[in-house]
Amino acid sequence: MTVKTPWVSNYLHPTKWEQAFPPLSVHDMFFRSAERQGKAPLADFMGRKFSYAEMAGQVRRFARGLQLQGIGKGDHVGLFLPNVPHYIAAYYGALAAGATVVNFSPLYTVDELSHQVADSGTSILVTVSAAALLPTAIKVLNQSSLKQLVVGNVAEALPRLKGLAYRLFKRTEIADVPKDSRITAFATLLDNDGANQPVACDPEKDVAQLQYTGGTTGTPKGAMLTHQNISANARQINLLDPHSRVNNPQENATDRILGVLPFFHVFANATVLNRTIDNGGEIVMLPRFEAKAALAAINRTKVTALPGVPTMYQALLDNPAIAGTDFSSLRGCISGGAPLAAELKSRFEERSGSVVIEGYGLTESSGVISCNPYEGLNKIGSIGQPIPGTWVRLADKEDPHKDAPEGEPGELLAKGPQIMAGYWNKPDATEEVFVDGWLRTGDVATIDEDGFIFIVDRLKDMIAVGGFKVFPSQVEDILYQHPAVKEALVIGVPDTYSGERPKAFVTLSDGQTATGEELADWLNPQLGKHERVLAVVVRDTLPKTMIGKLDRKALRAEIGV
Ligand code: AMP
Repeated sequence: MTVKTPWVSNYLHPTKWEQAFPPLSVHDMFFRSAERQGKAPLADFMGRKFSYAEMAGQVRRFARGLQLQGIGKGDHVGLFLPNVPHYIAAYYGALAAGATVVNFSPLYTVDELSHQVADSGTSILVTVSAAALLPTAIKVLNQSSLKQLVVGNVAEALPRLKGLAYRLFKRTEIADVPKDSRITAFATLLDNDGANQPVACDPEKDVAQLQYTGGTTGTPKGAMLTHQNISANARQINLLDPHSRVNNPQENATDRILGVLPFFHVFANATVLNRTIDNGGEIVMLPRFEAKAALAAINRTKVTALPGVPTMYQALLDNPAIAGTDFSSLRGCISGGAPLAAELKSRFEERSGSVVIEGYGLTESSGVISCNPYEGLNKIGSIGQPIPGTWVRLADKEDPHKDAPEGEPGELLAKGPQIMAGYWNKPDATEEVFVDGWLRTGDVATIDEDGFIFIVDRLKDMIAVGGFKVFPSQVEDILYQHPAVKEALVIGVPDTYSGERPKAFVTLSDGQTATGEELADWLNPQLGKHERVLAVVVRDTLPKTMIGKLDRKALRAEIGV
């Protein structure tokens, strides 16, 4: 079954989607908005406002700073940053300089970051002097191919830090920046006339960013997202919103979005950063999710949109400060990244008085593939309909070249201007993930008669811990380093708070002894927060396939997940 975008009838914009997304570079999208918005606010960081004009100045100076160091087309600029103003300057600045951005999770361990720095060929990395980031970045500088580190100082940029920002960037959580010829201060890089040299850009060919994902085999792969992929997805999302500028040029509705989802992730990159900037809106930035701080920010700034992952809505509901929170400014909440439970959706809607709209997408789709309508029918448990310009179809689970049998679930395949160009340096993986130009999502779905999609299963090994993705092999690889471990399998098991959590099952080498608890105590400190296992279970055997490979599917069936 193939479903084409329903938007011509369901959404307000009058043009045909074929004409809706002319090629546009991401930095031109930024500068276009900056020119139009001028002194209007682009970001609110803990009460400090940044106008479009001010941020555009920083973007130009960052671009020029990179160019003065000889960085441009073909270079990879890594961002190892939480949601701080530096992210915006560095992201659009690197793109305007002609470089490709590589987004790294600020939660990465030294090994994860080193691996991806090497795989992506990142030569320069941008971070801030938070204690949770700088020591990791310095270790990576010393042990990888990285040549240069640019370090921002949030405390210096914002002298009157309060609350969460004070704790994160001024008091205990700040690290000293060592004197090292390979380390440049962010402010030094910005210290120029901002006369950046325009660089020729072919939006449909040039890669704006590499987004890492684990993929089905578990080896992290860099999805190559072109300028057009990113700018089209921003425009597609704005077409969904009846109040957006493109749908409603006269209304000029307030657009103020809570930016607490991490910018490095494609969900926030699309729905918070690029969508909002394309629309000329304002981003209320929070560098870390803490329920109380998020609720205080909602009260203080009167946001109109609140995108989040399901665990975030749950944490907001669980926090006592919700009693004093005024949600009246909210027009909508957008949930994605993991399935949204019906009960959570209705409880948050009841408390906030605002609809929680579920959407869906993946790294390889630059953000969003489908979404429920902003106004009108939302189907519970559905990830909505394909967004403007997007086609989806269900393929046979065994042979994606064939359609799924009528009325049966199949692998969800998608096509549209937001679908990646391929995986960086991985032609085999690229070939595997595309079928006749369609992206294989690895998710199993059904589609109802109204074109609403329901995810019912997953073909890939990924475990969704909140909105964070954990790949079993990342955890298994470490388990195999333990002398007592002979075989290891990690699967996702249901968890009331995170949706899913990893759980490990191992067998031991002959003559070795170790308890599950001992192995968990050894394993967990080596893992990132979301990768930590609920438990390690020691067993005599693990299920195997006919050819003797460990059989994750059979283990899942045995455990009943
Ligand atoms: P990532 O590449 O990290 O964005 O992960 C993408 C994957 O997250 C998808 O392939 C889905 O398996 C899962 N996902 C994202 N949004 C949803 C949703 N609304 N419901 C169920 N699964 C989702």
